[in-house]
Amino acid sequence: MPSLNTQILLGTLAGILFGLMLAALGQESSTTQNSLYAAGLVGTLFIDLLRMVLIPLVFTSIVVGVANLRSHQQMNRVWLGTLGFFALTMMLAIVLGLTAANLLRPGEGLQIALFQDAMQDFNAVQMPLPDFFAHFLHSLFQNPVSALAQGNVLAVVVFALLLGIALVVGGERYKNILVLLQEFLELILMLVGWIMRLAPFGIMALLLQLVATQDTELLTIMLKFVLIVSGATLLHGLVVLPLILYLTTGMTPLKFWRGARDALITAFATSSSAATLPVTLRCAEQHLHVRRDVAGFVIPLGATMNMDGTALYEAIAALFIANLVGIELSFTQQFIVFLTAMLAAIGAPGIPSAGMVTMVLVLQAVGLPAEAIAILLPIDRILDTFRTMINVEGDMVGSLVVQKWIDKP
Ligand code: ASP
Repeated sequence: MPSLNTQILLGTLAGILFGLMLAALGQESSTTQNSLYAAGLVGTLFIDLLRMVLIPLVFTSIVVGVANLRSHQQMNRVWLGTLGFFALTMMLAIVLGLTAANLLRPGEGLQIALFQDAMQDFNAVQMPLPDFFAHFLHSLFQNPVSALAQGNVLAVVVFALLLGIALVVGGERYKNILVLLQEFLELILMLVGWIMRLAPFGIMALLLQLVATQDTELLTIMLKFVLIVSGATLLHGLVVLPLILYLTTGMTPLKFWRGARDALITAFATSSSAATLPVTLRCAEQHLHVRRDVAGFVIPLGATMNMDGTALYEAIAALFIANLVGIELSFTQQFIVFLTAMLAAIGAPGIPSAGMVTMVLVLQAVGLPAEAIAILLPIDRILDTFRTMINVEGDMVGSLVVQKWIDKP
């Protein structure tokens, strides 16, 4: 029996291959329809299982993570290191996106009339910056029981952070609760291990669906934009992040990718950092040897806040739309794009196409028509694969960098 790692790789290849075969057969063929139905069932089952463990995992891993930081006396360093890393890498991603879009100017030469129908049918939810901020702040603090029940990851993260801090402050007196949560976390991780056995099939099914149902015509019309976004995203993931990792920890990119592979493939197939989180945590701890207290803190936080791929995408897409409608964005306006893209990435939940929704914020801040995201929606599924992968990569690199930093004397 090949290792799980190899099985996942085989599942990936098989999914792409079968997807291409079905695409060649055409949507009408009954083989295609039956296969897509079966793939839909398996793919959804896999994502449902990951979602099932997501909330208990986020909660226990953060409380235990924070509470165990007590032994380091390093709480401040971890906080600062984590938030500093998130902010810095997202800024780099946006600068990369803006540079690429300014140099290569996607959208120029395309006729906006081409998209008129899509835009007319589309009602963008208007959310100006102050509303977005108020909404964001409000979503941070909620009744923990309803946050847990509704799967509101951000509010769960905040409550778990506070409870973890209270456990540190309370000290010895509350050690029973800590032991209880630690054991609960171990059990959830055991479940994650079981779910992972299904990963090769789940990933195969998801990729098959993705490849077989792509709208290739639209992709060719927007080829330049798609290439610029994927190129810049890959540059960030293949050069910028590995370089930061190498310079700070000395870990080579190959060693990193070998350890991170399962999580990266799962992110690619699910387009959801949140659904991938159980796998990300597992890779960080088991393959990349990040200690549980550090990984348990940095990775769940990163899955909700740290989105390099999304930030980069929002920046390029804003400039793309500006070019499309024939507006030249000034330096100040691009600076506003920089700031809002960062906010929009932090505020986007780790679910498929979340970045599209928060994109409205960026467009409105510089006076671009929010309806224009209707143009991007049909190709979003494919672009979301890469950006989610880079989002997840950033979280794993972050956990390694922070671990190195707190271990420094
Ligand atoms: N799908 C992305 C994620 O889960 C968010 C986005 O749409 O950009 O990380």
